[in-house]
Amino acid sequence: MTARALAPRLLPLLPLLLPVLLPAAMPRSLPAAQQPGGQAALAGTAPASACAPATASEPLPPAGSGDGRAAPPPPPDPTGGDYRHRLQPTAFGWPRRDHWCVWIEPGASDGPAARWDLAWSQAVSAALETWREVLPVSVVDEPERAQVLVWRRRPALRGGRASHGRAELELWLVQRVAAPALEPRVTVSISPGQRPEAMEATALHELGHAFGLWGHSDDPADAMAAVPGPTPVRGLSPRDRATVQWLQRQPGLSPGP
Ligand SMILES: [Zn+2]
Repeated sequence: MTARALAPRLLPLLPLLLPVLLPAAMPRSLPAAQQPGGQAALAGTAPASACAPATASEPLPPAGSGDGRAAPPPPPDPTGGDYRHRLQPTAFGWPRRDHWCVWIEPGASDGPAARWDLAWSQAVSAALETWREVLPVSVVDEPERAQVLVWRRRPALRGGRASHGRAELELWLVQRVAAPALEPRVTVSISPGQRPEAMEATALHELGHAFGLWGHSDDPADAMAAVPGPTPVRGLSPRDRATVQWLQRQPGLSPGP
């Protein structure tokens, strides 16, 4: 059965677009110094089925009626050790996965842009490595193998406001090695025009959204803080870890009964 044939069964569906803007308070100076070293290495071996190329895929069609409200957030953790209650599930459940496949826009291999691209690539790779402390993530060479696409670009102005990063979630019906299934598809834009530490913090935050943390912490020490503090957060706090670990115990996307 093709994805196209299955799609009508999934109506009514919610077009899910959860743009999350990073506040424009992030530092925006250009890199003062280049980081030494070669291309950041990222191991990218995935289980064969996890990052198989899609043979068919299509986005969920827009809902016609506007009834497709997303599900409510969960109640807070009684111990206060995480910020699960600030996360927003989709109407089809939690956009989490057991294994994520990430594609990163390649940089220029030579010429004047190469060193700037390298700084961006290193920042994104460092952020991805941080998430790999708590999540299975593979880096893939082809976009059709990925659920998360990371682009080197400044997000378009939205509401007249600039931001250095943005993550946008869609739900797609994708066929890989098995029957078509709902998958999150996240487009992440990370601006290259920042200091390396700020780029890494931006990438860490936006990748957190991509990996299912669709909400913001109220603590500036968390990677997923709504309002970043004066120092870029380049690591996961205990609350970040506890929240993602809680998320990974929840059921993933499901088309419903
Ligand atoms: Zn955010």
